[in-house]
Parts: sequence; C-alpha cells; structure tokens
Amino acid sequence: MKDASRATLAQTQRLVVKLGTNVIMRADGLPALGRLYGILESIATLHGQGKEVLLVSSGAIGLGAQQLGLDHAPKRLAEKQACAAVGQGRLMAIYQEGFARLGIVAAQVLLTEYDFSNRQRYLNLRATLDHLLKLGVVPVINENDTVSTAELESRLGFRSAPVFGDNDKLSALVASGAEADTLLILSDVAGLYTGNPHKDPDAKLIPVVREITLEIEAFADGLGARGRGGMASKLAAARVATRAGTRVLIADGACPGILDRLLAGDPVGTLFEPGLRLKGRKRWIASAGQLAGRIRVNEGAREALLAGRVSLLAAGVVGLEGDFQRDDVVAIADASGRDFARGVATMGRAEAPGSGRVLVSRDTFVLLERV
Ligand code: GLU
Repeated sequence: MKDASRATLAQTQRLVVKLGTNVIMRADGLPALGRLYGILESIATLHGQGKEVLLVSSGAIGLGAQQLGLDHAPKRLAEKQACAAVGQGRLMAIYQEGFARLGIVAAQVLLTEYDFSNRQRYLNLRATLDHLLKLGVVPVINENDTVSTAELESRLGFRSAPVFGDNDKLSALVASGAEADTLLILSDVAGLYTGNPHKDPDAKLIPVVREITLEIEAFADGLGARGRGGMASKLAAARVATRAGTRVLIADGACPGILDRLLAGDPVGTLFEPGLRLKGRKRWIASAGQLAGRIRVNEGAREALLAGRVSLLAAGVVGLEGDFQRDDVVAIADASGRDFARGVATMGRAEAPGSGRVLVSRDTFVLLERV
C-alpha cells in the first residue's frame, strides 16, 4: 500500500540524487559498473520526462586508490587527496561515457564548503546550476577533495558542527541551493532503522520521519563502511534539506530499479517530510555551509527573538565565539550554547562588545528548530 506522503513523489520536478562510495564501488574495490549504468538509465528516463536531475557522486578517492594499485585504503589526508585527484577524472570518464550512450551531456562541478558560506559564490553557483539544467545537462557534483579538507582546517579556528567533508551534507546543500523538491540519498543502508540492522535482528526500518527529534537522532549509529558519511551524517543532511523545504529519501543504492521505485511512491527506504520552503536570502542563511561564529544570548533576548519582530541587540549578548566579520552568517545560541537560530552579523566581533547597536537584524533571522 502506498503511503500518502509518498503519493506526490511522481510529481518531483527537480531532483538531487546522491550516490555513496559503496554504491559506486564493489566490495573488491572495482567500480560497480552494472549498478551504476542501471542508475544512469533510470536518470535518463526521468530526464526524458522533463525532470531536472543533479547528481552528487562520491567515489573519487576509491577509484583513485584502485587505479594507483594501492594495497590499503588511503588514510593520511594528503594520500586521500592524491587519490581523489587521480580518481575524479576516472569518475567523470565513467559518467560522461555512460550518459553519452544515453544521449545526455554531463558536466563536472567541484565544490567546497566556502562556496555555500559566501553569498556571492553561492549566487554564482545557483546561476550556473540553473543554466546547466536549462541546457538539459546533468551536473555531476563532488567535493573538491584536493583542496577542501585543508581549507576546512585553516578556517578561523571556529567550526560549527556539522561541516561538510562528507557528500551527504554536500548533497543537502546542493538540494537546498538548487531549490530541489526531492533529495535521494542512495548508499549501502536501506534507510533509518531503530537500531543497527547489521548487529541487531530486531532493528526495524522507519518508513516516514515527520520531524527529526532527539529520539530519531538516537537511532543513528555511525553506519556505512567505506564512505565518510554514516547514518549520523545522513540525518544531519536530512535536517538541512528538510529545513529548506526539500523532501529527503534514504534508500539502498544496490537495490535494482531503486530510483524508479522511489519515484513511483513504493514504500522503500525512509522518507523525511519537508518543512516550509524558505525563499531568497533566508534560504541561503539556513543552509550556509559553515558558520563564522556564535552569539550566545540571555533568556530575555532569546524569548524576544523567538516571539519574532525584534532584532538582536548587543545588550542581550552573554558571549561571542569565533572571529566573525560583518556580513558573516553566525549561529545564535542560548546562554548554555544551544543553537536555536541563525542570522547575518551587522558588525565584526571586535566592534560588538558595548556597541549598543543591532548585532543581527530581524530580516536575516532564521529559526532553526521548533523550540
Ligand atoms: N568526495 C569523496 C570521494 O569522492 C567522498 C566523500 C564521502 O564519502 O562522503 O571519494
């Protein structure tokens, strides 16, 4: 029986498909060409129906390690980045060849976290993706592995969890930035379970998640062997994408015809229902990849902000973290450091104390969770 929240999946117009390393590679380290071509055929069918598809693909490091004949999984950062530099070309060769046989042109897009945190780059990225889709091209997106991890480590000494560094989060940021209505995360796990299905025979698949609660988070157990993202990173991705109004499905990429089945509304995998769609600048603020700092506020300021209609004044601030500058996206947290909102700083950290001015204007204020 079809579940009501899946009934509208067939009407998906813009779709992001994320393929994990375990979908692209076989257990023996060779590329899973049969599986991959099956997925490309399904994408070609959707494309033929006028739907727009963006692919987020891992596998560069795995393919590079295989091509270099490494007898071990790369561990050190520079080794992984070298493998990615070799493997990314190979990965694109597979996609371009496969899509060309199906009459589709593919494009390579390599991104880093900063491309989402910086508004100018984010707007450029959106415009380029829009144009590629208008041309009927399938963008094949991956993290720019050769530079991105180094970049993450050198940023400002402040990291807001979770940053990307796994393609689950990247796929959520792409889905949000491109205003996709659906994000499919295909990996070697068939969805979200109430326990670890590899260890616990009583673990049950959760078919629909209406809201990512603490109980739902407790089910995530770091599954997924070879890629960087386990279930916790998939949940973090689902949170980002649903917050921007995109519905998310997590399903088993090795299951034949999985894309067709998901879009037909078959009850496979786990569906995360979307929240309200955010527009324009607020969409960017909600999904900005990396935050430049955190502003902790007192209880009075928190209540006033949650009630709406007020800006954050320096007077309500009890602590500042990170060397944020004017126009950076910052987290807004309660006095204990629990984030409840985001916004754009009107001044840098250095000028904030004692300024008596507005620190985050209410038009950039985005509430993160129902609190
Ligand atoms: N970007 C990495 C790759 O292509 C994969 C990251 C991940 O596993 O999430 O190999």
